[in-house]
Parts: sequence; structure tokens; C-alpha cells
Amino acid sequence: MAAPRDWLGAVEEEISGRQGSSGVEVVFPSDPATPAPLCPHGPTLLFVKVNQGKEETRRFYACSACRDRKDCNFFQWEDEKLSEARLAAREAHNRRCQPPLSRTQCAERYLKFIELPLPQRKFCQRCQQLLLPDDWEKHREHRVVGDISVGQLRRPSLLLYPLENKKTNAQYLFAERTCHFLVDLLSTLGFTRVLCVGTPRLHELIRLKASGDQKSNIKSLLLDIDFRYSQFYMEDSFCHYNMFNHHFFDGKAALEVCRTFLQEDKGEGVIMVTDPPFGGLVEPLAVTFKKLIAMWKEGQSQDSSHKELPVFWIFPYFFESRIRQFFPSFCMLDYQVDYDNHALYKHGKTGRKQSPVRIFTNIPPNKIILPSEEGYRFCPLCQRYVSLENQHCEHCNSCTSKDGRKWNHCFLCKKCVKPSWTHCSMCGRCALPDHSCGAPKDGCFICGELDHKRSSCPKIAASRRVDKAVRKQKQRKSNKMKMEATKEQSMNHTSVTRRKKRRERAHQYLCS
Ligand code: SAH
Ligand code: ZN
Ligand code: ZN
Ligand code: ZN
Ligand code: ZN
Repeated sequence: MAAPRDWLGAVEEEISGRQGSSGVEVVFPSDPATPAPLCPHGPTLLFVKVNQGKEETRRFYACSACRDRKDCNFFQWEDEKLSEARLAAREAHNRRCQPPLSRTQCAERYLKFIELPLPQRKFCQRCQQLLLPDDWEKHREHRVVGDISVGQLRRPSLLLYPLENKKTNAQYLFAERTCHFLVDLLSTLGFTRVLCVGTPRLHELIRLKASGDQKSNIKSLLLDIDFRYSQFYMEDSFCHYNMFNHHFFDGKAALEVCRTFLQEDKGEGVIMVTDPPFGGLVEPLAVTFKKLIAMWKEGQSQDSSHKELPVFWIFPYFFESRIRQFFPSFCMLDYQVDYDNHALYKHGKTGRKQSPVRIFTNIPPNKIILPSEEGYRFCPLCQRYVSLENQHCEHCNSCTSKDGRKWNHCFLCKKCVKPSWTHCSMCGRCALPDHSCGAPKDGCFICGELDHKRSSCPKIAASRRVDKAVRKQKQRKSNKMKMEATKEQSMNHTSVTRRKKRRERAHQYLCS
């Protein structure tokens, strides 16, 4: 009989495997000599292809937001020089890819729309667009729904279909109970402003509550790359934004909206809540969040310089070490974040949905009460709320489960391990019973260790020095030959991208 499938383990592998296993990593030069070139989604990121034990290959720029080349095919070698003509063509392409309407025009359209009598308020499902009478003719053949009520306008996440492009922009919307839990929690904690980064449904629920009852009047600002949302909000409550490079599509005006929002009331009472796409790389996200935090900090007086901007970063539990690498003060809550349309869902033994998604926060966990009716309890020893299955281990002196299942203590490993693991004497550690002994998994590219990736390898500095020395030597040896090879290579690449470009001329902005 086959062993019971370790479902959470499979999810963990699937998602974390998408990060870095292709051998492509993002690099942030400490002193960038030149600004990154621009794609339609703002400044590109610098990537490097790494092979285990080999020297770094050539670095290149690619889109920060789209991991699927079908969505943005930008590619440029770091040391590639482009002709004036190609630069001009790129600029024209970037302009063509921008949304057809400015933020201000969208807001004006919205104001016109709500003035219309109910029978004239139409929405085109094909184009995902609110229609004004002048637009009707153009959408005559499309599926158009009418009588769009104020209630519907306030819940755009129900009106719009969730984007489903797995690689670039999969939208996983919070289930009602999670969304209500978050809104209630934010209000209990006394927040008055919420910066929603990639959380459109939370944004709308906050506003819905604020307009509904007097008790809650939390303000919310949504930053999201999904431009469709700009039809439903004025400029001060939505900015078209890319969270992988901190790019505001509407330039300085939008950046100022965000700055004003963060710095209002001397920065008191504001929290940032973010739920990025899980396939996204952690490091660029962390860099962006640090920029938003810095923006908030600018508005602080000197004597409160030790304070931190409160943050909820919603992400799968197995990114804990990655996140804490960038934000050591964050801890992971046991609360399982549920989604309406998440493919990564299975009914657990209890019939309850098991979600691998958690909240990472710098708010002290004893202040965050998790609902007992959903199976959470307070652990007085750990001073935090944990799930019922998460038992306090007296040897580790903590509630050790990370994934919501009961973990077991292994005396040989001197720590608690997943229930599906057993101790392997060959490997000298706990692992799945059917693991192949000694086989390296997707570990670090430099030293092969499993508990970290190349970018956080303690040996990285040394390996970089070696790389550099090797590179220099090679360069001296065959400078001329290399130059020629390079030329050829980049010409090959150019023709490939040209062909690709032709194929993808139909490229339209965000699946519109
Ligand atoms: N659970 C959230 C939605 C999370 S899905 C809710 O219910 O409110 C991820 C969100 O991030 C989507 O809204 C998506 O449009 C947005 N997003 C994806 N890539 C982005 C990027 N590069 N910059 C900004 N937002 C992005
Ligand atoms: Zn792009
Ligand atoms: Zn239409
Ligand atoms: Zn233990
Ligand atoms: Zn063990």
C-alpha cells in the first residue's frame, strides 16, 4: 500500500521549488553603476543564472513582475549595448503597453458612471470594464451585464473575474471568514489606516465596513498591479503599482498619494498588509517593503526612531526562514489564511480546509487573538495563540508545529519534526520514509546544504572571490576570442527575441 501522501509537503516542494531551483536568482548590486532598463512594468531586475559549483554566467535584465515571458518578454544582457533605434522602439513599446486611460480619466469616468440611472449602468464582462453610454456600441457583441448597483460597485472583487495566469498574476481572494477576521483584528488593534499591497478584497471590505457602521472608520489605500481596479476607486484610494520594483505607474503624483497616506497623523495608526503572489521572489519583495517602511519612517519624529511600521505579510509557512532573514523581528502566526479560489486546497482529516498560508508580523503575537471557534487556543508558555493540533513540546519548550499538524519530537535530531518523517540512521536526520539516502535535494548551489539557498550561503563571499579571480584570469587569456563569441551570442539572441516579438505582437496589457 502506498504511504499516505504528504500533501502539505508536496505543496511546499511545489511552491518553494519555483524559487531558485531554475538556477536563476535576482541580484541587487550594492552600487549599481547604471540604472536598470525599463520594461512596461517599470525598472527591470538584474538576474544571474547559477549552476552548482560553476562560476556565475552572464547577468541579464528581465521583467520584475512577469515570470512568464509570454506576459513580458523583456531581455537584455547586463553588458549589452543597444542601438538608438532599438532604444526608441523599446520606449514606444513601453508606452503602447500602458493602460489607455490615465488615473484621473478613470476617476472621472467613475464619477460619471455613478450619476447614471440604474438601467444605464452596464459592465462588459469580456473587457472587464464599466461602460458609459458612449461605449455601448463598441461592446454590442460582448457579454454585458446591466443594472450595476452601488453594492456591486463597492465589491469589485466579485464583479471582476480573478486573474488566473499562474506564473504572473494569479489572484487568490480571501475567503469571507478570513477577510472578516482580518478586518476585525485590524480594528481591535486600533489601526485607523491600512496600506493594502496586493489585497484588493481586504481593501474593499475595510471600505464597506467604514461606510456601513460608525464604529469602524478605517481608511484604506490599495496598491496593486491589476489596473482593472482603477475603475472603481478615486486617486486617493488606489494606485497602480508594481510591488517587485516599487514602481508607481502614474509617477510622482501616485507616489505622493502613498507617502501622504503613510505619514498622516505623524505616521500613527497605520499598518501595511500584503499578500504577494507566492511564486514571487522573496528578496525583491523585501527590498520593496523596506522602501515603503522607509517612506513611513521619514515622517517620524526623531524620538520615535526606534518604532517599526506594523506589517502583516501573508505568505506560505515554509518561507519563514527566508522572510525572517530580511525581517528578523517578524514572527509567524498559526492562523491559517483561507482563500475562495485557491488551487492549493485540500480537505484535511478533520474535514477542515488546510491552508499553508500564514501571517508574518512584527506585532507581538500575544496581542493577536485567534478565534477559538476555528480551533485555536492560547499557549501561556509561548504567550501566543496556536492551533489545537500544535502541542507544546516540553523538550523544545515551544509549540513547534509549523504546518498545523501535530509534530513529533525526535531525540536524535533534538527537535520536533513533521509527523510524516522518521529518523534515518543513514542520513543522520529525519526525513520522509521513502527518501533516497544521501541524494542531494534542491539545496544551496554553493555548498549543497538544504537549509538555505545560494544567496544566503555563508560561503557566498568566498565563492564570489573565487569566481572573480577565475573570471579575471580567463579574461586575460582569451580576451579577444571572448569578445567575438559574445558578439555572436548576442546576435543569436536578438534574432530569437525578434521572432518572439513578432509572435507576441498581440501582447495586450494584463489580459485585457
Ligand atoms: N488575498 C488577496 C489577494 C491576493 S492575490 C485579497 O483577497 O485581497 C495577489 C494580489 O497581488 C492580486 O491582487 C494581484 O493583482 C496582485 N499582484 C500580483 N503581482 C503584483 C505586482 N507585481 N505588483 C503589485 N501587485 C501585484
Ligand atoms: Zn515587464
Ligand atoms: Zn466589451
Ligand atoms: Zn520538540
Ligand atoms: Zn531525527
